[in-house]
Amino acid sequence: MWSVVLLTVVLSFEYAATTKTNTRNGPSVRRNTSLPSIFDYIVLGGGIGGSVVANRLSASSQYTVLLLEAGTNVEDELSVSIPRNWMSNIPSSLSRNDLMGPNEPVVTYDISKRRLSSGKTLGGTSTINTQMYVRGNSLDYDIWAKQVGADWNYQNLLPYFKRVETSPRYAKNPTYHGSTGPLRLSPGGYEPPEDMLIVQACQALNMTFVEDWNGAQQIISPFGSVGFHEFTILNGTRQTAFGAYIRPVLNRNNLWVQDSSLVSKVNFDVSKRRAISVDWYDLETREAHTTSAKKEIIVSLGSLRSPQLLLLSGIGNTIELNKLGIPVIQDLPGVGENLQDHVITTGLWNVDSSSPFPMPPGSIINQAAWDLFNYNRTGILASSSSRTNVFIRTKFQPVNDSRPDIQVIIRTPNGNSLWALAYLLQPNSRGRVTLASRDPTDAPIVQMNYFSDPASHDVNTLMEGIRRVNQIFSTVPMHNSGFHSFSNLSDDIEFKNYLYGNKSSTANSNSGDHFTGTCKMGIDSIAVVDPRLRVRGIVGLRVIDASIMPFITSGNTQAPVYMIGEKGAQMILDDNNSTGTSAASSLHRSYNFSIVIIFYLVFYISTLIKQH
Ligand SMILES: Cc1cc2nc3c(=O)[nH]c(=O)nc-3n(C[C@H](O)[C@H](O)[C@H](O)COP(=O)(O)OP(=O)(O)OC[C@H]3O[C@@H](n4cnc5c(N)ncnc54)[C@H](O)[C@@H]3O)c2cc1C
Repeated sequence: MWSVVLLTVVLSFEYAATTKTNTRNGPSVRRNTSLPSIFDYIVLGGGIGGSVVANRLSASSQYTVLLLEAGTNVEDELSVSIPRNWMSNIPSSLSRNDLMGPNEPVVTYDISKRRLSSGKTLGGTSTINTQMYVRGNSLDYDIWAKQVGADWNYQNLLPYFKRVETSPRYAKNPTYHGSTGPLRLSPGGYEPPEDMLIVQACQALNMTFVEDWNGAQQIISPFGSVGFHEFTILNGTRQTAFGAYIRPVLNRNNLWVQDSSLVSKVNFDVSKRRAISVDWYDLETREAHTTSAKKEIIVSLGSLRSPQLLLLSGIGNTIELNKLGIPVIQDLPGVGENLQDHVITTGLWNVDSSSPFPMPPGSIINQAAWDLFNYNRTGILASSSSRTNVFIRTKFQPVNDSRPDIQVIIRTPNGNSLWALAYLLQPNSRGRVTLASRDPTDAPIVQMNYFSDPASHDVNTLMEGIRRVNQIFSTVPMHNSGFHSFSNLSDDIEFKNYLYGNKSSTANSNSGDHFTGTCKMGIDSIAVVDPRLRVRGIVGLRVIDASIMPFITSGNTQAPVYMIGEKGAQMILDDNNSTGTSAASSLHRSYNFSIVIIFYLVFYISTLIKQH
């Protein structure tokens, strides 16, 4: 009997030794105990997809979860938390700035525009993005569902969108909005005076005002709609995926968050076709590690890095892998293909200095703005720069497709002009991500191939989009407020020069920073993951991030990725429940069993003492 007591005491001590609470040590998020060599789940990448998954898997104490992230914790840095400061963080040490491929027509002459930014911190790109929160159009998901099954239609995804958010502004509409999710949404606080003017201008063009882009309907009039964004801003401060999903649960004993950790390879048990461990490099201690996963490895490195990791691990196009001498684990020719982005074009619309329109002269980010932010977390610095949003249907959108094909965002860069961006929402061009070398620290080659579709749908639609923006600025309300429209945008050749640039002028189109589709979900020949986000032909490996989208959604991409994280995590938990319980859970059960035995022994011994 005493051997049982001894065993339970030893087990209890061991359990306690591995479950010390997380300590925050400078910018790093690590524990003061050594990292175990095996976990139930390993999540790679602490961006939006990875943060959601790591939170949901570790919600049950029966699973041990490791989250590996290359960047660090910058949550409390002022440059991150000031919502309006997002533009200063690209490029910066917080972002990865990959170069576009060498033959990109759109930026051939303007080297400074050749950057593709993504976040390199805990929280990933949610740390540097513009914070607009749009789910996209419900038809986007219904089109996905036609390829991958009804699980992914909008009606069936709605519970996951709602699970993400707490949206006080739309609390009265529980059919479409959540009220208990980790991510707090808000209207952004600051209401620039020009916003109502844009609304009037759009209404003059028979566009309707939409109260809620994530509600029942996105496009109401056939011409398009105008409205205001929701943002991932809480009390005047940026909210990241790390801040919403990971920081509040850092005290979970079964969740380990290891930042400054660059993942370099997934290893396999080839005979079982199973992912079993991950190679990674500690950027702080400069040590190489291999950590094993009992159940699954989840790849959430974003659309430019998830395909890179799969390729480095031997999953991809056999011909390409052979060229680099990488042993092939699984031939999946679609890895890195199908890259989609919302290519944008931009323009500045100037206003007369004598304009009656009440725009403040000079820079709008002045001492008064700083004071408002410092003391109250209000004012222009406490907001993003892109409150007004217009969804447009151009003449190129087929009648039977009810989605907008252009999104327009209006920004105020300084006192005497408005800056408008037009995003091409459903591009036909496709880019690709390939390996530059076998070195995981080398950036992959990213060929965006903007405007490469043979029928020129993309360039024609974007030209039409910016013309429609010009129309908005030519309306009576804008004219009366002193705005000037562009005169040269009627001529197609002039316009193409404007978009592409030429030797004397810079290009006015660029990446929309919405990289998607490179580990496409589906069942076709270039699909990388199946509709349950499992890498095809491999056990124990999923991809859960923006890269799984078969088609890019019609709006900014963070809201869809939060949803994909929620949906993917639920799929893992459901699949696990249907295939039996884990070794971790049996350890947990034996721990509980030990406690019962101790109580029993104490009771038994005290009864014996009483009897004597
Ligand atoms: C400038 C900018 C503005 C944007 N604005 C908006 C907006 O206003 N609204 C909107 O909806 N969307 C916006 N987006 C897009 C949106 O933020 C992204 O679509 C979304 O964050 C993608 O999520 P993800 O999980 O796929 O990748 P990410 O959030 O990028 O996460 C990937 C994570 O993996 C980590 N990682 C990568 N490689 C490794 C490795 N080898 N080892 C370890 N870790 C690694 C990265 O550091 C990162 O933390 C913007 C994007 C940019 C760049």
